[in-house]
Amino acid sequence: MSPRKSPEWYDFVPLPPGGKGPAPDPEGVTHDRYLQEGHLTGYLELTLEAVSPIHVGSGVVELSEDVGQVEGKVVKGMARVRGQPVIPATSLKGALRSRYEMITPSCLGPIRTRAVERYSDNPRRSELPRKLIRQMPSELQRRAKGRYPPRITVEVAPEAIRPWQPCRPSKKKDPRSGLCPACALFGAEGLQGRVWFDDARVIGKIPSRGSLRIASLYQPRLHRAGPLTLHGWGRRTVVRVRELKGRKAYYRVQLGDVPTKGNVPLDYLPRGTRLRTRLHFRNVTPAELGGLIAALGIVKTRDLDRFPFRVGGGKPVGLGYLEVTLRGLYLFEGDDPWLAFDAQPRPVDRETITGWVEAFARNETLCYKEGWRALSEITRRDYQPGEGG
Ligand SMILES: [Zn+2]
Repeated sequence: MSPRKSPEWYDFVPLPPGGKGPAPDPEGVTHDRYLQEGHLTGYLELTLEAVSPIHVGSGVVELSEDVGQVEGKVVKGMARVRGQPVIPATSLKGALRSRYEMITPSCLGPIRTRAVERYSDNPRRSELPRKLIRQMPSELQRRAKGRYPPRITVEVAPEAIRPWQPCRPSKKKDPRSGLCPACALFGAEGLQGRVWFDDARVIGKIPSRGSLRIASLYQPRLHRAGPLTLHGWGRRTVVRVRELKGRKAYYRVQLGDVPTKGNVPLDYLPRGTRLRTRLHFRNVTPAELGGLIAALGIVKTRDLDRFPFRVGGGKPVGLGYLEVTLRGLYLFEGDDPWLAFDAQPRPVDRETITGWVEAFARNETLCYKEGWRALSEITRRDYQPGEGG
């Protein structure tokens, strides 16, 4: 068999080697006091422009004519509010959080640690690599020759997760203690975050759109998360990911780069759609706010560069690119703006904002520069088609 170079369209941002770190400012995490000394509350005014089609699924199917496409098809629906397509606040928050996790020493967040995958002697039916199947116990190998590929459990070894173990707010102690930077800012199970978005609404008209089909939006395969070994014996054998490569980041994939048999029609926002949203923050430190702005991918420092902001489904095939523009940043000032009806937000100048980003980049316990660097570098690479198909 001739060696074949496989296509490449993603890589991994390395996890912080020292494990997850502490949140910079435990006192800032709760909501019981606002605007403590040195803390900021306000919002960012953002416009988003789709630089590729955007699809955020609603989980329902719709008729193509109902979503402004040619008649007679059934399409995967897009999130809507009062009939208008939107990018939901939760999707924006999830996207920002995953970027923030990559550029700070944060935990893995909610991750999948178990899956079942098909394996077969026939490489086209197999999800697992042939090399691994050859090492399986003989009874499993026999089953792999059958017509219907059997399934095997794939799990991440507990020791592979431990240094970046998802945070859980303490029930006994102060719920804030022991949280990583991302959980402290975006929230964790049972603990509200200090940042949230509004749904992004379309500004003006949606550019006209044809039909769009992509390959099914399958779940990423867990076995690709790192090097594999077989664990257990006989029929009880499981595949173990013994080490995590990091957090997945996609190359600069354009729609059409990845050869796919497109058979899933989608409702989507076409390239050129403009949207508006607000990103609210409450009781954050200047360095945290700088980190949030950095996580939008829109700033660079002397040694760190921008990266794209992406939301929704179809990222592996080139969907979901948003160009983010910061229109303004406003702060609430006073003792308690949430009770004062006349609280006026005060606009902040560029220089101050740049200062916050620099405060983040300089803060060695909060900013994970290697992660930021890798994210900028990986997302700049072009899709590499495989040789010979
Ligand atoms: Zn965490």
